[in-house]
Amino acid sequence: MNTIAVLTSGGDAPGMNAAIRAVVRAGCESGMKVYGINNGYQGLIDDDLRELNIRSVSDIIHRGGTMLHTARCLAFKKEEGMQAAIETCKKYGIEGIVVIGGDGSFRGARDLSLRGIPCIGIPGTIDNDIVCSDYTIGYDTCLNTIMQMVDRVRDTVESHSRCMVIEVMGNRCGDLTLNSGIAVGATAIVIPEISSDVEKHVIERIRRTMKTDKKHFLIMVAEGIGGVAELARKIQDECGVETRSLVLGHVQRGGSPSAKDRIVASLMGYEAVQLLKKGESNRVIVIKDDKIVNYDIYEALNMQRVVNTEVYNIAHEISI
Ligand code: ADP
Repeated sequence: MNTIAVLTSGGDAPGMNAAIRAVVRAGCESGMKVYGINNGYQGLIDDDLRELNIRSVSDIIHRGGTMLHTARCLAFKKEEGMQAAIETCKKYGIEGIVVIGGDGSFRGARDLSLRGIPCIGIPGTIDNDIVCSDYTIGYDTCLNTIMQMVDRVRDTVESHSRCMVIEVMGNRCGDLTLNSGIAVGATAIVIPEISSDVEKHVIERIRRTMKTDKKHFLIMVAEGIGGVAELARKIQDECGVETRSLVLGHVQRGGSPSAKDRIVASLMGYEAVQLLKKGESNRVIVIKDDKIVNYDIYEALNMQRVVNTEVYNIAHEISI
């Protein structure tokens, strides 16, 4: 294999740059030509790419976001867009692509692989919602960002004896909410995989905690549940505690990646190039039981999510 390319697709995540860097350096060190494709699959359709060398990826390992930019590209889901992407690959002699992104991006990688362009996926999303991998690049940074922000909220909530209902990102996955909830010592954690009858559950928990003389409350709610303003009103009415709501929003997505994200991204980026060199195609690199392994993308996309109810139960037991 002489020529490969790398792109980032879907939502950006801290650590994507470290993965790009590793792909470019490992490719160049193996004597390959490495192209960086801008704006995900859109760049492949638009012929928007450039050759990268080992110095092109200097000074990015510590930066959030992605130097290649990212996009959601609807045109790529259609055969016409797919063919335009394949034409670009032929034009530049691209024999393999490393796709850094989430489930949607892997579907695109699978489709390209099926059409003769070998692709290797790397899980990059803050949401940790890629079922086949225990861990996704960006998750650790995001978790720490949330924790730091909520620690600040706690200072003011505590001073005013208030309740704050905080919406956390994660799409339909509650991992960020559950684990940040544990890290900040939340009174209640609401995630789509487990929680039902949200109002009743949260109000009961606050009332129970009030009996132990607690006067301020942090309620962590996953974005997949939503409705934090409404929930805050209900809590104030039912529990008689002044309650506000806060949507943390996109600040959760940015920032310098943590050591863990940089390390995992670097190892995965390197591994992606090794797989392409071996002639592999349609694989996604994942972390399973602390090891870097890889799966067939088709199989990976069909895996079922298992929710860690034990951790959820422990979180509630100790948050009283
Ligand atoms: P993520 O990769 O984070 O899950 P998206 O679901 O938005 O983000 O997918 C990113 C991009 O991957 C889409 O904009 C599209 O270009 C491509 N993609 C998503 N789903 C498919 C699909 N079913 N077939 C082909 N390409 C897809």
